[in-house]
Amino acid sequence: MTTAIVWFRRDLRLADNAALAQALAVADCVLPIYIHAPEEDGDWAPGAASNWWLHHSLAALSESLARRGGRLLIRRGPSLATLRELIRATGAAVVCFNRLYDPARRASDRLIEQTLTGEGVDVQTTSGHLLVEPWSITSQSGSPYRIYTPFFRQARTRITVSAPSPVPRKLAPPPTRIETLALDELDLLPRIRWDTGLAKTWQPGERGANKRLRALAEKLAAYSKERDMPARDSTLRISPHLHFGEITPRQAWYAIQQSRAAVRPGLIRGAEILERELLWREFAHHVLHHFPHTPNAPLDERFNNFPWRRSKTLLSAWQRAETGIPIVDAGMRELWATGFMHNRVRMITASFLTKHMRLDWRSGARWFWDTLVDADLANNTLNWQWVAGCGADAAPYFRIFNPVLQSRKFDPHGDYLVTWLPALNCLPPKYRHAPWEAPPAVRETAGFQLGKDYPPPILDLAAERNAALAAFRRSRGLSK
Ligand SMILES: Cc1cc2nc3c(=O)[nH]c(=O)nc-3n(C[C@H](O)[C@H](O)[C@H](O)COP(=O)(O)OP(=O)(O)OC[C@H]3O[C@@H](n4cnc5c(N)ncnc54)[C@H](O)[C@@H]3O)c2cc1C
Repeated sequence: MTTAIVWFRRDLRLADNAALAQALAVADCVLPIYIHAPEEDGDWAPGAASNWWLHHSLAALSESLARRGGRLLIRRGPSLATLRELIRATGAAVVCFNRLYDPARRASDRLIEQTLTGEGVDVQTTSGHLLVEPWSITSQSGSPYRIYTPFFRQARTRITVSAPSPVPRKLAPPPTRIETLALDELDLLPRIRWDTGLAKTWQPGERGANKRLRALAEKLAAYSKERDMPARDSTLRISPHLHFGEITPRQAWYAIQQSRAAVRPGLIRGAEILERELLWREFAHHVLHHFPHTPNAPLDERFNNFPWRRSKTLLSAWQRAETGIPIVDAGMRELWATGFMHNRVRMITASFLTKHMRLDWRSGARWFWDTLVDADLANNTLNWQWVAGCGADAAPYFRIFNPVLQSRKFDPHGDYLVTWLPALNCLPPKYRHAPWEAPPAVRETAGFQLGKDYPPPILDLAAERNAALAAFRRSRGLSK
């Protein structure tokens, strides 16, 4: 009898799971294990919102395995020692796992693979987290891409997706003498319960992920027109499910191709844009793979000595949604309440932090890391550097979002604003974006007091924009 260990990490699903399928193909006894070892993520151990998600996703995985006769073993790391101990105890000859791409995990996975292989164990690593392996695509000169469009063109031609593999029907339980921790012993849930909003918003686990994916066909028609409007529920909201591997990008890609077949207005355009978005995720992993220092340092070295302002007061106002700029504060409240923020608003809040406040993008990236349920090292790093202007395919330094104009354009009636800032509800919609511009008579009629019901802007938008432009020009050695 052959025993195989399936080591679950950020692939908390049974369907389309290459590592699980591989183990089932080569062994008659399959041992699923999750090893908790946040220290193996180096500087980037999961934050509080990710831990909340992880707890619930592990519970869902454990239940799915049990329903099929299996049992999820839960242990604490170090991973290598735990795997060795399990191999010794069970006589397992094979270890299967899906690859991860963060620098710290890549290094520890390499060591684990080499060590176990040296000890005669058959280690089989598989791909599932991405559509294309980050090292498999290079420019004509053989170097990694730093610009998205040529990456997209090449990656697009590489993707051939067939129907994802289904959930295995039956699993044999591991011998009962093998010990496991109870999930609660991992202590992943917050002691002070700030997570009620998260629980109302999300259903972590494969089932919740599939519900979101099933909505894809309906959402596609409006996606191209409405995906930038934060008040509309028009995007897929699958990013945390993808991060924790409850669905694969391949399942998402396949669902897009299936939907393309139904010819409805706007659908093809929506499908094309969504493919581009999924490939941004691939691009982020490509950049992280080739430039593993980027979570902690800018890709563009001209930013190494950029004079970021140091101000705990400004940072804290941004974090606490007290900047007095409604679209920024609404986004930060959405983040705090739900562990998520709409993509357009992420861009606006990140631009406000790095350009108007001129605070280091790393301080914003850290806050997102702790508070987002979809916090993902590749995506978070690429996007923060993109907004700050110091990363791959970055926005030009002179493109500074005006948060008030963005708010008027993408939330014209202020519906998103009042969802998160109910104090603005009494103002006529056109003044919700910039309450300080409302004439005194309008404020009085509305019964709205600036400074009491909602703070005035923490800084002067026009003056800070000019100061930012000057600082960015200086850092590039430009006089004008
Ligand atoms: C400052 C900043 C920080 C971000 N941090 C993260 C992060 O930590 N984790 C994360 O998953 N995304 C991050 N994003 C990207 C993006 O905001 C989210 O992926 C998106 O909002 C998820 O919502 P959705 O699933 O409804 O997206 P949809 O519009 O439905 O898109 C489908 C999928 O495509 C991918 N995608 C879409 N836009 C992007 C993008 N700009 N970059 C990379 N992939 C994308 C995501 O996997 C997403 O789930 C960040 C963006 C910004 C501007």
